[in-house]
Amino acid sequence: MTISSTHAAAGGHAHDVDVETTFDFLNTLDLDDGFLVEKLPTLDLALAWFADRGLIHHEGAERAGKHAAAHPRVAARDLERVHRVRGALREVADAVVEHRSPRKDAIDEVNRALHARQVIELTAAVDGCTVDHRHVGDPVDDALARLSEALVQELVSGQPERIRICDNDTCRWVFFDTSPTGRRRWCDMATCGNRAKQARHRAKAKAGSTAILGL
Ligand SMILES: [Zn+2]
Repeated sequence: MTISSTHAAAGGHAHDVDVETTFDFLNTLDLDDGFLVEKLPTLDLALAWFADRGLIHHEGAERAGKHAAAHPRVAARDLERVHRVRGALREVADAVVEHRSPRKDAIDEVNRALHARQVIELTAAVDGCTVDHRHVGDPVDDALARLSEALVQELVSGQPERIRICDNDTCRWVFFDTSPTGRRRWCDMATCGNRAKQARHRAKAKAGSTAILGL
């Protein structure tokens, strides 16, 4: 376990994550037209994904990337951890939506991820105090902790009843329902919603023609 300290700059340096970023993360294991597509197949891509969303510093991602290139086994283990935590968070989200108890191994995995969270500390400065945040784990730990924490915060003090799984069986994206009525069924009306409508329309048309043919 490495311990490093970075000076907190003003304005959003705490890498706060909203739950929609966590859902974007869950959806990186993408059911695309019914086929599972892995959007984070390498550690480099996972690090780039984390850095693009401000979950880790670009320098941290670069460092971790170089380290991974020199140590393929470490890279493989880190990538496996990314996938494992993502699967555990997905299990928790699924369980919340389905009003059931999550699997114990998923709870354990999320809790492990949470423990690597950065800690905020006061540091004496010549003219008073500054706030530092200390990274307890490596950049991958950090990113996974933040993504986990966003979901946990939503469960504890947010609106977990607004967590949805897209009704389109060939999509199943996790999303947060921000609609005024809170009755959104599809991740995206223009794609999945439309597809559902078209499928219903086709089924109706087929039933109609079958009736006409007397079959
Ligand atoms: Zn969808």
